[in-house]
Amino acid sequence: MYALSFAVTCLTLLARNYQVRHPTRDTVAIFGKPKKGDRAWAQSSGLDPATGACQVGDRMTLPRRTVLLAKPRGFCAGVSYAIEIVRLVLERYGPPIWVRHEIVHNRHVVDELRAAGARFVDDLADVPEGALVIFSAHGVSPAVREQAKARHLRVIDATCPLVTKVHLQVLRYAREGYEIVMVGHRGHVEVEGTMGHAPERMYLVESVEDVAKLAVRQPERLAVVTQTTLSVDDTKEILLALQTRFPAIRLPAREDICYATQNRQLAVKELARRAPVVLVLGSHTSSNANRLVEVARKEGTRAWLIEHAEDIVPQWVDGLARVGLTAGASTPEYLVRAAIDRLLELGFQHVEDLEVVKEDVAFPLPRALRQGALALRP
Ligand code: SF4
Repeated sequence: MYALSFAVTCLTLLARNYQVRHPTRDTVAIFGKPKKGDRAWAQSSGLDPATGACQVGDRMTLPRRTVLLAKPRGFCAGVSYAIEIVRLVLERYGPPIWVRHEIVHNRHVVDELRAAGARFVDDLADVPEGALVIFSAHGVSPAVREQAKARHLRVIDATCPLVTKVHLQVLRYAREGYEIVMVGHRGHVEVEGTMGHAPERMYLVESVEDVAKLAVRQPERLAVVTQTTLSVDDTKEILLALQTRFPAIRLPAREDICYATQNRQLAVKELARRAPVVLVLGSHTSSNANRLVEVARKEGTRAWLIEHAEDIVPQWVDGLARVGLTAGASTPEYLVRAAIDRLLELGFQHVEDLEVVKEDVAFPLPRALRQGALALRP
């Protein structure tokens, strides 16, 4: 009897002494019922996000610590097009050349082009009369084109063709007598350029709350366009609010959010479902990169915007089996490579592509530039 009771006590103690062997190696065994911390650890290690996969007697082979790389990520066709134009103009005409606004929203790209002889200005008044000026990928208003003409500037337009498409839509709606609501971010250079195409008949909304306050002159003849780099999901909500408030509003067949923004958001969603932490490479001024962080967070994961590899805080990824990595549309691939190297230094062992959409869009360079038909400086 005494022996039996001793055995029961021992077994009870053993059963309570459950533990998770921490993954310093690839295999982990779980004994007994998991403690709260064990479950959290198992979840953060990506074993089974739903249950934590902690069951009595579980024995699992952990994946190697993996960097999941979103595909597509980084440069879109519009950014490659704009950067290529600046490089070609520098090569063909020599420095200095002038660029209105940062050609794309990435400090590294801008610094590189600046070192090669590009001068970035926000106001054409700062460009010498008659000089060669490039308009950035974000596009400009007709008033800026007029200003360039008045200063006899020779213009090369690096506006992304997908932004130009929205400009043309605005002009068409205005010609047909519509008032136009733009969904976008106040102060963003693309929004300023687009709104400038019909300033007297355009309204800007940034949120569902703005829609509730919007006062238009002709609710029966209203159309909507959007900035190209918005969050797809947030924009859907705003478009729905507009449609509810103004049933006659003319919506775009598809919102104007460009293919690259949509694809990168789809890919980051998938990353967020598979990794407990997502890192987004991009500048703080990049609308596109900021939206990727928001989309990942909405999926319930922890996400950070980083400008370069040195911004990665080791504690963010400590002990994780997986981390997701992606990059905004204006982030060069060499920054992604540097971030991968940093994660490998921090103990990750394996890099894996997570291809969500295939992308093969490219824009041909402006004809004048391809044919070298641009007049030399006066
Ligand atoms: S993000 Fe879209 S609209 Fe902007 S430059 Fe790239 S392709 Fe063009």
